Amino acid sequence: MLVKEIDSIKVLESCHMPARMLKITYKLVNTETKLLHRLLQAHGLQEAPTDAKEFNLMWAGLHPKPDVLRSLTPYQRVNHFPRSYELTRKDKLFKNIEKMQYFRGLKHFDFIPTTFLMPGEYKELCTTHYRTKGPWIVKPAASSRGRGIYIVNTPEQIPKGENVVVAKYIDKPLLIGGHKCDLRLYVCVTSIDPLLIYLYEEGLVRFATVKYDKTNKNLWNPCMHLCNYSINKYHTDYIKCDDPNAGNIGHKWTLSALLRHLRKQGRNTAALMAAVEDLVVKSILSSAQTITAAARVFVPSLFNCFELFGYDILIDDMLKPWLLEINLSPSLACESPLDARVKSALLADTLTLVGLPAMPTSKNDASPQTNSLKMRIGACRRVHSAENACVRGKPGAQGGAAALGGLLTGEELRLVRAVRAQYSRRGGFVRIFPSQNSWQKYSQYLDPVSGVPVCSTSLNNNAPYTVVPHNYNLLVHSHVLPHFQHATVATSLTDTPQRLKRYEAVCIAGAAPAVQLCDSPAPQPPRDARRAKDLVKKQLSDGLTLTTGEVRRAFGLYLTHVLKRVSSPSNELAVQHAALVLRFLRRASSSLRMPYNVKGPPAKMCDKDRCAVIAKQLNDFLYMYYRETDLYTDSEDRAGCVANIHFAQFLHSASEADLEDVLLLLLRTQNYVATFLGDGRGGALCVDLPPARRAPHPPRHTLLRHLAALAHVNCRKYRPEVETSSRSEQEETSSADSAPPFVSSELVLKESLKEEKPLNLALKYARS
Ligand code: ADP
Repeated sequence: MLVKEIDSIKVLESCHMPARMLKITYKLVNTETKLLHRLLQAHGLQEAPTDAKEFNLMWAGLHPKPDVLRSLTPYQRVNHFPRSYELTRKDKLFKNIEKMQYFRGLKHFDFIPTTFLMPGEYKELCTTHYRTKGPWIVKPAASSRGRGIYIVNTPEQIPKGENVVVAKYIDKPLLIGGHKCDLRLYVCVTSIDPLLIYLYEEGLVRFATVKYDKTNKNLWNPCMHLCNYSINKYHTDYIKCDDPNAGNIGHKWTLSALLRHLRKQGRNTAALMAAVEDLVVKSILSSAQTITAAARVFVPSLFNCFELFGYDILIDDMLKPWLLEINLSPSLACESPLDARVKSALLADTLTLVGLPAMPTSKNDASPQTNSLKMRIGACRRVHSAENACVRGKPGAQGGAAALGGLLTGEELRLVRAVRAQYSRRGGFVRIFPSQNSWQKYSQYLDPVSGVPVCSTSLNNNAPYTVVPHNYNLLVHSHVLPHFQHATVATSLTDTPQRLKRYEAVCIAGAAPAVQLCDSPAPQPPRDARRAKDLVKKQLSDGLTLTTGEVRRAFGLYLTHVLKRVSSPSNELAVQHAALVLRFLRRASSSLRMPYNVKGPPAKMCDKDRCAVIAKQLNDFLYMYYRETDLYTDSEDRAGCVANIHFAQFLHSASEADLEDVLLLLLRTQNYVATFLGDGRGGALCVDLPPARRAPHPPRHTLLRHLAALAHVNCRKYRPEVETSSRSEQEETSSADSAPPFVSSELVLKESLKEEKPLNLALKYARS
């Protein structure tokens, strides 16, 4: 038995671990899911190279390409269904549900706020506004984490021509202690045909930091109206709870804690959770037709794909849940001990539920040791939270193969067994489709022949499925659920309050997180990294330079430090710095290729809120800035430039002061043109650094002050000059007159793209 370190956490490693013996491998693609990596490693799974074809699990941040799906073998699992963006894109989701409202009746699908897609539906928005009035919430069509979201009172306040989604703002939300909150719930779809939907019993509740003002006077305050952690964390009043067992402290709670709180107030939590389950099932039914069609074309085996969706749900003051959004790859980042506990349990349960079969071994390879191992694994599957005791308790509920054998084909029998086996591995998941009364409630949305969800009942709509030779949904309902045949009358939503109470009974206290996340203090940078820091500074002073991509990465990292400072409660200068940041953003926003409007907070805003709003804007800017920086692709080390590896090591260990030194040094040698800001839509920018104030060791935050006074190259106050320490100021000024003219912004960009160097490593360091 060995001990190995994964991200500075010690885990046991033994060649006797089941996953190691069965050679179970995984690969992570386009995702930085540290938690998942740790979890899989801790259980003995091996990471396969990104281009490997042999793997058991592929966890991707984006949809895999069709040819990847087509080549899957039955033992392989991928965490996305093809075309599941029908659910996860805000615009598509609304269109799919709108279709259901039209064909199936608004009252059955009225759980999503009325939404319009701009610019196409501007007229309809105005007409509706005339009838119902605002406010309206404006969101970029494909964004997340509250980026670019704002609230307006009238449609005229929305810039024309922008590709945004405008939704009716739910202005009477449920308030807890005066604060608005929303839910993040986790839904795992383990198969699309038959449709198998599980809702995780524990979820997270996210609070806005500033108390809600019902008068709609403070619509501009994101820390009052948006509940995203990524926004509220910048508010100095945001409370992060350090106790992993406390579900109701600070600005993030667990779902169960919220439900218990509501029950104490005499609210009907069972009805709330029944409505949530209904909303989840119906939202998936609205897009399942398209996803099923794509899965039939691209996915070879029934259980190849699964998906873990993050549902964002807002509850209003009448306790009605509203679906805001479904996230394709819900964040698995662990920002607090509570996150770590809930998300590690969620991930462990998701993988157990989905199941990672071992690659079939050849006959010769089937050693007795491996066989006995398989049996042991089967016997120790974790089943700790019964969904519905009566399902297992009733006779016939677990009818054996013999009981079914006469009725089903071999393939159907395998399917029924697989569905049952999966149910027995559900851990903290509640299966909400199929469930006790799901046939009565939802069979009307299924095609009677193929069992596939359909949006309209017209024959035309069912055309692609008429040739399907099976009805898996009916099969699963009739063979997996004991009372299916007898329950012919639809039961009311609150028919199973005992079952629904389960959501508030969840107790995470005492249950160990799947992986220990108590990170050790940040490791000391290695000695060679510290040496590289001095080396880079020296080389830059000696005339070497950096590529634009490198400078951008250094600048991005510098801004990250500034962001932390602006949102730090202990920084006395936060307000002053926030004002500088706002001025910088106003000028620098034109340097982005993507349109980005900086909206300054109103003058009357209190300091804390002001800093939080500006920090959020800087965060949005940084996000786009990094995305554009990623476009600067790499080549090899170049003559005249600092060596690649040295720069990567520099970034790894650089403090804010180091970054500031280097950026100022570069600005001087590059005629004060801010090459790290590119020339976006507004032309190149330069830093207006007056020669008189230059000093070998500038006072702290000099760069931020000068950034606040960014100017366009042609509008510079001070003339460029060639710097030599021995020159007098007069000499410098006169030489500046004869200095070559500034390079045009286009040229700067072209040159910078030419000279890129391999920096993936640097980026990795910088991001870490
Ligand atoms: P994102 O994907 O960027 O997080 P969301 O749609 O989840 O966007 O919205 C972000 C936040 O905005 C939510 O946390 C919620 O508090 C608020 N919000 C979104 N839509 C509405 C709405 N229609 N009514 C009220 N609040 C909303």
